[in-house]
Amino acid sequence: MDLPAAFHPNSSMENVARVDSFYSGRILWFKVEGFLFAVGRDEFAALSDVFAGMYLLPSNEAVDGRDESHPIMLEGYLKADFRSLLKVMYPTSRTLILGEELRLDLCKDEWIGVLKLSTIWNMSTIRQYAISRLSKIEPSIPNIEKIQLARAHRVGRWLEEGVKGLLELGSVTLSDLEVLGWKTAAVICHIRESSNSKGRPDTESSTGPYRFRLDSIKCGYCTATCSLAEKHPECGNCHVPFNNARMLRCQTIARGSVEADSTWILTNSIQCIDCSANPFGESSFNCHGTCGFTRMNSAHKVRVSIVLPNGDPHALVEDYFGEEIKEYKLHDV
Ligand SMILES: [Zn+2]
Ligand SMILES: [Zn+2]
Repeated sequence: MDLPAAFHPNSSMENVARVDSFYSGRILWFKVEGFLFAVGRDEFAALSDVFAGMYLLPSNEAVDGRDESHPIMLEGYLKADFRSLLKVMYPTSRTLILGEELRLDLCKDEWIGVLKLSTIWNMSTIRQYAISRLSKIEPSIPNIEKIQLARAHRVGRWLEEGVKGLLELGSVTLSDLEVLGWKTAAVICHIRESSNSKGRPDTESSTGPYRFRLDSIKCGYCTATCSLAEKHPECGNCHVPFNNARMLRCQTIARGSVEADSTWILTNSIQCIDCSANPFGESSFNCHGTCGFTRMNSAHKVRVSIVLPNGDPHALVEDYFGEEIKEYKLHDV
């Protein structure tokens, strides 16, 4: 194929303008579900090593996609998925302008299509963007679907979030989980059953870290049963969102106990699992029980219900899904 003089890097013709790399006008042809697409080549090469590599060859004569008769064939993919990817790669005023705002609004299925193709072509910028948009989509992706998408497109954090989300639900049956395959379904049921085993660690021989739920933090000076920490919506240090089922940890425990399944710990020994800092910082707790403590600070004791190691849902998720989550995260940089 003869390139116009402007494309020859060694052109000595001084009167020929050079082409800026922002848009060279070179076209790449694709064929999906019988439809031809002609798109700018530069963006594909800039976003994906797969396409950049194709054009590093000395001559691109034989490269697929060079013309209408030799398109890149997308077998097994949907035209709709490809169109969605193009909407993100080549936004136009029609897809971007919404009233007075500039927004890239794709629906959930379109973002999944973008995720699918950006994954197979190693377009990490677009892949990460699709993951972040899908993570924030309303209504949020149900836990079971999140696990399926995580496995189809290798998204480690979705596998973790989906499994942990299923553990926090009030009730889940084996048949709800069947779509995940019997092995995964059985493991999730097993973790849900095991994580109900709370107890008191042996203060003489056991070593930390000890884990407990946010809503199990109670006053250490009376037998009030209300949670002291339920009004903390996030970690004061790393701002990871908290809910009542949030697991926290401490490295050491104090001796003694006021109830059979309660363990005393110092407020300042509590750690956020994500950042290891004290999630409550300088904030103080108020007990509404009989003890009359209104401004409990970091030096005061609280009671928590330690979740025994064999019943710690986070440790069990790590045991059963840790390798798979790690493998996905490792390749997702
Ligand atoms: Zn109290
Ligand atoms: Zn934190």
